[in-house]
Amino acid sequence: MPFLDWRISIGLHPMSLITVGTMAFDAIETPFGKTDRIVGGSATYVAYAASNFVTPVQQISIVGYDFPQEEMEELRRRGVQTDGVEIVADKKSFFWSGRYHADMNSRDTLVTDLNVLADFDPKVPAGYQGAEFLMLGNLQPRMQLNVIQELTQRPRLIVMDTMNFWMETAMNELKIVLRYVDMLMVNDAEARQLSGEYSLVKAARAILAMGPRYLIIKKGEHGALLFQQDEVFYAPALPLEDVFDPTGAGDTFAGGFIGHIAKTGDISFENMKRGIIVGSAMASFCVEKFGPTRLKEVGKKEIHDRIRQFKDLVSFDIELS
Ligand code: AMP
Repeated sequence: MPFLDWRISIGLHPMSLITVGTMAFDAIETPFGKTDRIVGGSATYVAYAASNFVTPVQQISIVGYDFPQEEMEELRRRGVQTDGVEIVADKKSFFWSGRYHADMNSRDTLVTDLNVLADFDPKVPAGYQGAEFLMLGNLQPRMQLNVIQELTQRPRLIVMDTMNFWMETAMNELKIVLRYVDMLMVNDAEARQLSGEYSLVKAARAILAMGPRYLIIKKGEHGALLFQQDEVFYAPALPLEDVFDPTGAGDTFAGGFIGHIAKTGDISFENMKRGIIVGSAMASFCVEKFGPTRLKEVGKKEIHDRIRQFKDLVSFDIELS
């Protein structure tokens, strides 16, 4: 890998972001409703969220003949570049189906049909080279690594998301990718599965020893934790009256986080704290309707209002005598 010795990134394009992951169809069942076929995929959610903060979002993914052209156009309209999205004329898009439990925090995966993903060999378009930030959305670890290897310059920050499915089917590859990324994002169950530790503090220590300098552990309706060595920060989730469909909340969180980091160009721990608040705010929209529906509705004002709500939620005064 040519760039691995790079400690300082020179000549990267400021505010540039590459996002990688699945673009898919999902079938979702929650206690409140059911849909047989709605657009989803990790990279779809990341792009919808991140493009509120930074453009262009340089997307790398793969779809089949069935992926709606209108969805692609909608993404482009929002500043998402799709030169890196391969379209396979004779295969179907990635398909995932899941059913949520009554608590809406846990779910069962019913079907994962890789379809086009099975032979995906991601390529980084020339125009994407020199990106300052790389968001490796949930995807086959081998493909996440391929993208890193395709880059001619190391981004300032490489963030990786993954899930239990890849821990069960490709744990060794996943652990290799971990050596090359700066930050990992997983949920609490996945942090436990990856580390073999029940305590999230011990799990964080074990995962940070696998390679990344930063770790975010998402805890659904209980917020998210950000770890770096001995430092930890906690961001709550907004207490919502109705959670309709949590699908994509993790990816939307990732998109909001990396969108904020790319917009500000600041990779300090302090700014990462703001990033996880922005990510949590975006995720709180995502869960309000099926699939990415709600993400397509919200604009700058609503996003700012919600970030303000987060601020109010956690700020208080106390006098100790
Ligand atoms: P989240 O709820 O944030 O975990 O993300 C759900 C989205 O991830 C859905 O839209 C799925 O299409 C997508 N997805 C599900 N399983 C996988 C997988 N194994 N690899 C990549 N994306 C997946």
